[in-house]
Amino acid sequence: MKRCTKCEVEKPLEGFHKSARSPDGRQYWCKPCAIAAARERALRNPDAKREADRKYAASEKNKANRKARREGPQREVILEQKRQSWERHKEENARRAREARAAEPERFKEYYQRKYAANKEKILAQNRKWAVANRERVRAYRRQRSYGITPEEFDRKILDQNGRCEICGIEMHLMDERIKGGTTRTGICVDHCHKTGVVRGLICSGCNKGLGYFKDDPARLKAAAGYIAKYQQSS
Ligand SMILES: [Zn+2]
Ligand SMILES: [Zn+2]
Ligand SMILES: [Zn+2]
Repeated sequence: MKRCTKCEVEKPLEGFHKSARSPDGRQYWCKPCAIAAARERALRNPDAKREADRKYAASEKNKANRKARREGPQREVILEQKRQSWERHKEENARRAREARAAEPERFKEYYQRKYAANKEKILAQNRKWAVANRERVRAYRRQRSYGITPEEFDRKILDQNGRCEICGIEMHLMDERIKGGTTRTGICVDHCHKTGVVRGLICSGCNKGLGYFKDDPARLKAAAGYIAKYQQSS
């Protein structure tokens, strides 16, 4: 037991903050007394308090303490607190970042360019990795950008067509697949009119290529059909 020299109450040693300078390794004032005194000092001189906080935050001691806490028995609790705090402030942080970018677009542009230049390989590798892991999202994004078809519209259309090509009726897959000796032509294509850009239907990549070779021209396609039929009958 040890007597606090401020409130003069006897308390166990743990009731006193640690102090390297004192003979028994603990401060002379008990924790509540020390905390109350610190609070009073902070109120009297907020600038000094802020400066002290800043100094402590940047100190090696703070780094070591934080590391010990992070890696100590409280590890899981701390991680969970961090996760929750991140979740709580997610939107606010995103909004602040947006505002900061909007306020100084040039500065941020420069910042990102510098960052990109310094980490180009790493960033490209990350992007590739993300694209591989999110293939469908990437494709949906491209479809929307190129043809203006939303993921919902695409899904509805593919359901309407029972997943089959609107021309040849073959069962389509999300994309052409490499197979032994070549490539399947069953990947889904968003077929659109090249003049107006309007989406016509979802067809397999084989039929899509065919339309392209025939220049999307009904007369040419009909002529080709007649030509094939003629030689089929006579053979
Ligand atoms: Zn005390
Ligand atoms: Zn087809
Ligand atoms: Zn020809």
